[in-house]
Amino acid sequence: MSTEASREKFKAFLAEKGLRVTNQRLAIFDAAFAQDDHFTAEELLAHARVLDESVSRATIYRTLPIMTGSAILREIDIGKNNKYYAPCRDNRSQQAQVICLDCDKIFEINAPFMEWYGSTVSSKLGMTPVSQRLQVSAHCNAFQTTGHCSHHN
Ligand SMILES: [Zn+2]
Repeated sequence: MSTEASREKFKAFLAEKGLRVTNQRLAIFDAAFAQDDHFTAEELLAHARVLDESVSRATIYRTLPIMTGSAILREIDIGKNNKYYAPCRDNRSQQAQVICLDCDKIFEINAPFMEWYGSTVSSKLGMTPVSQRLQVSAHCNAFQTTGHCSHHN
C-alpha cells in the first residue's frame, strides 16, 4: 500500500471512530511514514514536533493505538520497556524479525519459507493460517569481541 493510500485509510479510520482529522494527527502520520527505521513513541513525538510543534505527548499516545488498530502501523514488542513501531508499507507476513540484544536494532529479513511452514503445520491440524511471525533475539558477534555493535550507528 502506498503512503498516500495509507494516509487516506488513516483519515477514513479517524472519521469512522468519530475523531477529527487534525493537523497534529496528520503530522504524526507523516512523521511515522518518513521513518526508514523502527521508532518508539518518544522518537515519533520528536519527529512529529518538527512538522507541527503543537503535537503533544498525549496526542501521540492516543493516536498510536488508532494507527496500530487500523493496521497503518505495526507494533513490535521486543520484550523491553519500549515498544517499537513501523509503518505497514506492504505485506510483511513473510518477514522474520531478528533483534540485536546489544543495541535493540530490529532487522526484518525476507523469509518466504515461513509461509510454506505455516501452511504445512496448519493443514495437518485441518486449519488455514491467517498470520504468523518469527522473532529471533540474537547477540552481535562483533560486540562480543570488540564491545561495539557492528549494526549500531
Ligand atoms: Zn547491535
